[in-house]
Amino acid sequence: MSILQNVSIKELNTFGLNIQSSYFTSIHDVSEIHSVLHSKECIGKKYMILGGGSNVLFIHDFEGLILRNELRGIHIVNEDENYVWVKVASGEVWHELVLWSIDRNLGGIENLSLIPGSVGAGPMQNIGAYGVELKDVFYELEAMNLKTFEMETFSKLDCKFGYRESVFKHEFKDQYFISSVTFQLNKNPRINISYGAISQELRKMVVGNPTVKDVSDAVIHIRKSKLPDPKILGNSGSFFKNPEIETEQFNSLKENFPAIVGYPLPNNKMKLAAGWLIEQCGWKGKRIGETGSHKDQALVLVNYGNATGNEIYALALQIKQSVFEKFGVVIEPEVNIIGIIS
Ligand SMILES: Cc1cc2nc3c(=O)[nH]c(=O)nc-3n(C[C@H](O)[C@H](O)[C@H](O)COP(=O)(O)OP(=O)(O)OC[C@H]3O[C@@H](n4cnc5c(N)ncnc54)[C@H](O)[C@@H]3O)c2cc1C
Repeated sequence: MSILQNVSIKELNTFGLNIQSSYFTSIHDVSEIHSVLHSKECIGKKYMILGGGSNVLFIHDFEGLILRNELRGIHIVNEDENYVWVKVASGEVWHELVLWSIDRNLGGIENLSLIPGSVGAGPMQNIGAYGVELKDVFYELEAMNLKTFEMETFSKLDCKFGYRESVFKHEFKDQYFISSVTFQLNKNPRINISYGAISQELRKMVVGNPTVKDVSDAVIHIRKSKLPDPKILGNSGSFFKNPEIETEQFNSLKENFPAIVGYPLPNNKMKLAAGWLIEQCGWKGKRIGETGSHKDQALVLVNYGNATGNEIYALALQIKQSVFEKFGVVIEPEVNIIGIIS
């Protein structure tokens, strides 16, 4: 375990921002965390955990210690006639886990194919796509409490999963290092192709009775055709969450904007498509200097090559403001903004 100084993390964040971190170390075993945080260089310093860097926007250089998660290992820890429980070290690449499960015809995460990043960041925002969320297959996770350095186990209930939410984004923000996640995968996969685009894609692939591999292939194909590849154009996927509003507010918006689409939620609420709201404000495809909203996906903010984190953040604030002025709806970032006081 070595602690490096003044390290560029340009290759370690999907926005491709040339951020310098004053200190940087890779964690290969949770037992290293205590000594790193107590080392003479880093004691008392600010720190953060970095997985794949696909859901972070650094506003400026990071004056502190970055702990890059390199924990590895996928192990079956239990099984019965219907399920397999798989314990996965948090530094594993999420999509590699999806491929691992598909190789064994285990069902549950095929719809989450090709989501970038690490397994350990998955529970942070309860990653989701194409009608499935991580919580649907989550069993438990282990995390190190960064105050006591004790290991703790969190059940699904403890994690308080919601739409792109968990306890780790709120009351336990920056307080735990998630070290492993255990998933309950299905030996008799129940295919979920209720999300329109998947069944359409499967029809194009001429697949009648889809396997988990077929669903994964369809999802991969859709994602590749819809989303910019961060290796080519820096981005962090959807920048904002889809906002939830009261049905009453939705009905009055519908009078002024008949094309507005809302998805009913429990508790008399409606979910709106943030991308649509942003597009209606004229942002889709708009470029400001080195940043902008993507030409096909208004919700995706991009770095054309030399943007700074501050420029992207300033654009996000302008977009947020214009959506509020036009619709009276507040949109919140899905991306973790590093460097502002929240
Ligand atoms: C092209 C693209 C498409 C995307 N599509 C989707 C999508 O369909 N659905 C979706 O939900 N997300 C999507 N995302 C967002 C992103 O991939 C996920 O949020 C992913 O889980 C982030 O993983 P990461 O390892 O890169 O996290 P990072 O960006 O490294 O970290 C994100 C946050 O989690 C914290 N964190 C990371 N690891 C740990 C840990 N082990 N313990 C405690 N805290 C930790 C970090 O400190 C940070 O606050 C997309 C991103 C991109 C670039």
